[in-house]
Amino acid sequence: MHELNQCPIPSFEEFLLWEKGNKGRSGFSFPANDTGDFDIDPDLIGEIPDLTELSEPDVVRHYTRLSQWNFCVDLDMYPLGSCTMKYNPRLNERQAQLKGFTEAHPLLPARYLQGILKLMYDLEAFLREITGMEAVSLQPSAGAQGELTGIMLIDACLRSRGEKRTKFIVPDTAHGTNPASITLCGFVPVNIKSNEKGILSPESVASVMDEDVAGIMMTNPNTLGLYEENIARIAEIIHSKGGMVYCDGANLNALMGIVQMGSLGVDVMHVNLHKTFSSPHGGGGPGSGPVCVKKHLEPFLPVPRIIESDRQYELIYDCPDTIGKIHSFYGNIGVMIRAYCYILSMGPEFLKKASQLAVLNANYIKESLKDVFHLPYDRTCMHECVFTDEKQQHQKVTALDVAKRLIDYGFHPPTVYFPLVVKGALMIEPTETESKETLDRFIEACRQIAREAEENPELLHNAPSQHFRKRIDETFAARNLYLRD
Ligand SMILES: *Cc1c(COP(=O)(O)O)cnc(C)c1O
Repeated sequence: MHELNQCPIPSFEEFLLWEKGNKGRSGFSFPANDTGDFDIDPDLIGEIPDLTELSEPDVVRHYTRLSQWNFCVDLDMYPLGSCTMKYNPRLNERQAQLKGFTEAHPLLPARYLQGILKLMYDLEAFLREITGMEAVSLQPSAGAQGELTGIMLIDACLRSRGEKRTKFIVPDTAHGTNPASITLCGFVPVNIKSNEKGILSPESVASVMDEDVAGIMMTNPNTLGLYEENIARIAEIIHSKGGMVYCDGANLNALMGIVQMGSLGVDVMHVNLHKTFSSPHGGGGPGSGPVCVKKHLEPFLPVPRIIESDRQYELIYDCPDTIGKIHSFYGNIGVMIRAYCYILSMGPEFLKKASQLAVLNANYIKESLKDVFHLPYDRTCMHECVFTDEKQQHQKVTALDVAKRLIDYGFHPPTVYFPLVVKGALMIEPTETESKETLDRFIEACRQIAREAEENPELLHNAPSQHFRKRIDETFAARNLYLRD
């Protein structure tokens, strides 16, 4: 066992450039003027902005210091549940940076975009195979946009049959974006509760399903990290009343090569290329949330669609029933290239292995920590496991305290207080890219924190101990954006 490392991330206070400047300082100097003075009309120059004056090292150090504040998956384990922060192979980056891709203008005629179009066409086929669905649009730029697109497709299909339904079923274990997408699309969410096993029972779905319900939107594996075992039976119930089944497949990391959701009665599903298929993400960077559908929804997919004839790839816009465009050009190509490269370099055998290892790693953590953290659903989990802070409550130690203390041990905190069905949740997703040594180090840090909670809870209340920013108000900045003096 390696020694636990306290605070491996440098933590410097850093001030605004405006607070550092000094009059007359600059990053360069011009040669002496040897051409004499000229009078320049001040109107031509306009008002000179009052910029801060800095030397080159001032500027370099400022930005380097800021860059060191960022915890990233290249630094250590990033077990942020529901986000799949796996290591992203550099090979994918190399391909995404190829000039033929980065310098292609999206308005070029299709005959000059054959390489990119083939890549997209093949990626659609890979995703059809992985999900068991029948048609794909790569256009949505995130999971949430894939969801919105999928719900719009269901709505458009029902309308084309002369139906306007008003409700959508959404379980308490769905991802938070699900009810948001439903509402944004004009449906009223009907909430149902999961059962004592943490999954949906067909009876609870049957009790709310009627002819005014457009469908159900379920996350599988759900946000408890549990597999929805009754999904096929639930799909039958929904279909028998003319509704459709949306599966949120953002967390495909447990299922690749193991189960095809399409074979279980799912009508629409999105997948997050930026999670499962290995693109750097977080911090609002570009994503890609392709939406995969069964045949009956294909006519409504966003345009352009890509078709192949005689080994030529073409973009077609002439689809009378399409819901239209939902992203500029074709979506986020860079993320698609990384996903394509990832899928090809893994192949079917290793995609399956990745899912198996993701599940194994999560279960290893679950079993190794369940004596020190309360485990609300003690069953085999998928790619993530959910604990709570119940055992620490008598010391007034919360999930947030545990998360902050993990920073002291050099790990990114897990997701906390989500899913909402679990009080004081700590949601841990290790991913398959972590070695047993790293998992053991993480487990040891968590066990050490559980001991500290008993012996010295103050340590946790004051964590992170070695960072100059300790507990910031986590909603204040978002609610009160302050960008200027
Ligand atoms: C991450 C996630 C989403 C949202 O995806 P974004 O790309 O962040 O919009 C939706 N559902 C689940 C289950 C997720 O894990």
